[in-house]
Amino acid sequence: MVVGAGITGLSAAAAARDLGLSVTVIDDARPTGATNAAAGMLAPFSEAILGDAELGSQMLEAFSMWDSWRRGVNVADDLFELVPTYFAPGTFGDRQEILRWSRDAGVPLEPHGELLRGPLEAVTSPRELLRHLQDQLAQSGVVFEHGEVAGVTEKDSSVIVTFNDDATLRGDAAIIATGASSVLASDALAIRPVRGSLVILSGPTREHSHVTRVLRHGRSLYIIRRRSGEVVIGATSVETSVNIAEAGELQLLLSDAIDACPELREMAFREVRTGLRPTATSNTLDCRVSPQGLFLQLAGHYRHGVLMAPLSYRTAQEFLS
Ligand SMILES: Cc1cc2nc3c(=O)[nH]c(=O)nc-3n(C[C@H](O)[C@H](O)[C@H](O)COP(=O)(O)OP(=O)(O)OC[C@H]3O[C@@H](n4cnc5c(N)ncnc54)[C@H](O)[C@@H]3O)c2cc1C
Repeated sequence: MVVGAGITGLSAAAAARDLGLSVTVIDDARPTGATNAAAGMLAPFSEAILGDAELGSQMLEAFSMWDSWRRGVNVADDLFELVPTYFAPGTFGDRQEILRWSRDAGVPLEPHGELLRGPLEAVTSPRELLRHLQDQLAQSGVVFEHGEVAGVTEKDSSVIVTFNDDATLRGDAAIIATGASSVLASDALAIRPVRGSLVILSGPTREHSHVTRVLRHGRSLYIIRRRSGEVVIGATSVETSVNIAEAGELQLLLSDAIDACPELREMAFREVRTGLRPTATSNTLDCRVSPQGLFLQLAGHYRHGVLMAPLSYRTAQEFLS
């Protein structure tokens, strides 16, 4: 049984299916799911510039595995696109800061007009990735059940999933991938929610996608321009479990993005996406096996759960093998 059908749960379900196990995925489609809100950057270099060493090495490993993991789980080719990343400093001080980060992280940047260009990274589309994985899994016999899980326990060599209406489901093993919400009586990973919001615009189609990382007066944001014309501006970061974006945070995000790229002003507004990032104290992917060894809690993916999908898949396979 896999509880949670975000990118972590579906990666775990694919791992279990590939081991030849019968798999049931349970999810209640709550609106706080982080994967539905995610931007889809697979960006170990740009994020390593901002992150710590352990996170950097997990991200680099996940990035090196992503394309072959994608092929292994039959995700379509157009859901992985290599893209250039440009850094756009707002002021001289911001430029010095970016250069200092790049030196500290050991990630080289090349001058590109007024911008700086980083190593090639990649983008995917998280919503399409979820849809695609779900279809693939369903076609290969994985069962999907809708329901809100209230708890997961171990008894007599079985795992028991209890739903909110007291119905139960019994299985040999479970993987809990409920993101920022906990279904365990005691959550050893101490996952906390960090809300993130994105603004989606639509502009002209283009031949290739690219990403711009903006630093303006110390505030950082990113702008993804997809081939389809979709423009993603993100992301805010607020320590809260309230999944509603505030006008002020969106105003700041949009005004910084438009100051950096004035042509965004003319683009059509499409939507705001908001989700709760599952965050561990270490800010890294973390996992915990239950006392009898029958279930695994897999969480803490924070800003990088889409990038980390191959590591979630591998961790699930190691647990189930
Ligand atoms: C604005 C934003 C931008 C982001 N951008 C990126 C990015 O560019 N690249 C990247 O790699 N990562 C990005 N992330 C981070 C990434 O989205 C998360 O790390 C990742 O999606 C976590 O996936 P998950 O499956 O663990 O959790 P979730 O996607 O939150 O999935 C958890 C699932 O569990 C279900 N669930 C929860 N509780 C219960 C329950 N009691 N019963 C039944 N079901 C339950 C929910 O309905 C949900 O479907 C971003 C996040 C945000 C918010």
